Amino acid sequence: MTPLITGANRGIGLGLLQLYAERGLAPIGTARTEDPPRVEGARWMPLDVTDPKAQRGLVESLGDAALDLLVCNAGAFLDRNQTPDDGYPPEMWAQMFATNVTGVFLTVQAMLPLLNRSDRPRIAIISSQMASDERAPGGSYIYRASKAAALNLGRNLAADLKPRGIAVGIYHPGWVRTDMGGEGGDISADEAAEGLAARFEALSLETTGCFETWDGRPHPY
Ligand code: NDP
Repeated sequence: MTPLITGANRGIGLGLLQLYAERGLAPIGTARTEDPPRVEGARWMPLDVTDPKAQRGLVESLGDAALDLLVCNAGAFLDRNQTPDDGYPPEMWAQMFATNVTGVFLTVQAMLPLLNRSDRPRIAIISSQMASDERAPGGSYIYRASKAAALNLGRNLAADLKPRGIAVGIYHPGWVRTDMGGEGGDISADEAAEGLAARFEALSLETTGCFETWDGRPHPY
C-alpha cells in the first residue's frame, strides 16, 4: 500500500508519515517547506496545496505510480482571536478556504489518475469536529465554515467516486497536541496517527462518505 500525506512536515501529518514508514509502506510526505524532517523509509515531495502548478509538478514527479491512500491533512487555523465587530478580514477568509477547501479539492483532482491505478483506492480528508452543525458555540467562523465545507466536499466526492471504486472518508483527528491544537490537547500526534490509520484501513466502498472520529465513533454531520 502506498500512502501520500499532505502537510506531513509536522503535527498529525508527520505522525502519520512516521507510522507508515515504520510499517514499511514507503509513504510519500508532501511539505511546502524546503527542509522537512528526515524520516527513514519515507520520501518527500514539495507541495503547497493551494498552488495548481505545484499540484501538476507533483503528479509529473510521481510518474505512473499507483496511489492507494491519499490523506488530505494540510490545514490552517488563523482566526482564533477575531471579533465579529472588526475581525475576520477577507484575506483571512481567502487564505483559509484556499488551504482547507480548495487545497483539498485540488489535491484530490491531481491525484485521481494515480488513485485509479490502485486496486483499493481510498481518500481520507482530515476535517474537524468543528465542522459539525451540532456544535456551534460561536467564534472561529472561518475555520468552522472551511472545515464544514471540507466535510461537505468529502461527502459529495464520495457519491461521485463510489462508482469508480474510490472510497472517501472524512475524519475528526481528536484534540491533538500540535502547533495547531496546543499543549492542552487530549492526545499526542502519534496517538492520533495510530487511531486514524486504523480508520483509514477500515474505510471501504460500504462506508464511503463516513464522518468518524480518530477512535472510531461516527460523528454527527
Ligand atoms: P499543524 O498546524 O501542526 O500542521 C499543519 C500542517 O499543514 C503543516 O505541515 C503545514 O505546513 C501544513 N500546511 C498548512 N498550509 C499549507 C499549504 N498551503 N500547503 C501545504 N501544507 C500546508 O496542524 P495539525 O497537525 O494539528 O493539523 C493537521 C490537520 O488536522 C489539519 O487539517 C487540522 O485542521 C486538523 N485538525 C487538527 C486538530 C488538532 O487538535 N490539532 C483538531 C481537528 C482538526 P507548514 O509547516 O509549511 O505551515
